[in-house]
Amino acid sequence: MVSDANTTAVSATMRAACITGHGGNEVVVVGERPVPQRRPGEVLVRLHAATVNRVDLYMRDSGVGITHRLPQIMGLDGAGTVAALDADETRLQLGQPVLVHPGITCERCEFCLRGHGVLCTAMSLLGEHRDGTFAQYVSLPARNVFALPPGMGFAEAAALGVNHLTAWRMVVSKAQLKPWETVLIFGVGGGVSLAALQLAKRIGARCIVTSRDAAKLQRARALGADEVIHAPPDDVAKTVLALTGGRGVDVVIENVGAAVWASAMKSLVRGGRLVTCGATTGDMPGADLRRLFIRQLQVLGSTLGDLSEMADLLASCARAPLQPVIDSRYPLDDVHAALSRLESGQQFGKVVIELG
Ligand SMILES: [Zn+2]
Repeated sequence: MVSDANTTAVSATMRAACITGHGGNEVVVVGERPVPQRRPGEVLVRLHAATVNRVDLYMRDSGVGITHRLPQIMGLDGAGTVAALDADETRLQLGQPVLVHPGITCERCEFCLRGHGVLCTAMSLLGEHRDGTFAQYVSLPARNVFALPPGMGFAEAAALGVNHLTAWRMVVSKAQLKPWETVLIFGVGGGVSLAALQLAKRIGARCIVTSRDAAKLQRARALGADEVIHAPPDDVAKTVLALTGGRGVDVVIENVGAAVWASAMKSLVRGGRLVTCGATTGDMPGADLRRLFIRQLQVLGSTLGDLSEMADLLASCARAPLQPVIDSRYPLDDVHAALSRLESGQQFGKVVIELG
């Protein structure tokens, strides 16, 4: 049965940033769009902040392999307040501060039925397959909407939805990092890498991080990194072995790809786990198969995280405050500058889009 809606006064149109084509910042247009029609079972969220993710650049520049229509509103993560919901919705309330999980699952495929929504064969992602969060409103299933952790701002909460969720699945679910272990995290300026550092420190593990930027390494130390490697000029694998008494690390967290793959494999202890969620420098490195089987390494692919992992992450945030690192904030009208900031690689932490 369709329940009556609880709703605040919502205007017919909103400000949003859309891709209108592919290739460079000129295809990104900020303008008026209709406010999305909330369907039964959905929550309409008045967004206050979103953050820029690598996939936003991919959608802007190519979008190949991702079924989408143009124009499409950009943005995956976001936080705001509940603007409308079903009258019989018991988990959320009108006006409540919330953040969104960007993956809408089919609830019917074999993976959804097993409770592994993140493997859904028909996952529809905000900003990729459907209108996203660089907008004043988004409507999505109530199960994808979560209460904000106590005391957390909208920008920081938005960062959790892709960034920390991805890092949570890598560090907690896939690597199952232990307090007595050592983890190597590549490219610590990036959002997921920084989130992985924060989560690994919460677990109590020893953290070694790498960057090409000495200033970023200094900031990572302030966030709890135990050892830093400036590479180049440092040779990562050699330095890791020196720092671990010739043993190597238990876990590698990486999303850089081909440029660091050989170093990552050589840095692992026997039986070590490498978790990857990206390949920004290339996706076809040498497999190093002899090392893989002789040293019995595990290579684990990971992407995003499911609703239960989001709930676990937020429960962890409620137990002990977690402060996602914000690099910079831009109003929606300056979305081009925000995208350029991420593209430059100069950022340390998340680039935020403020939505009023
Ligand atoms: Zn499914």
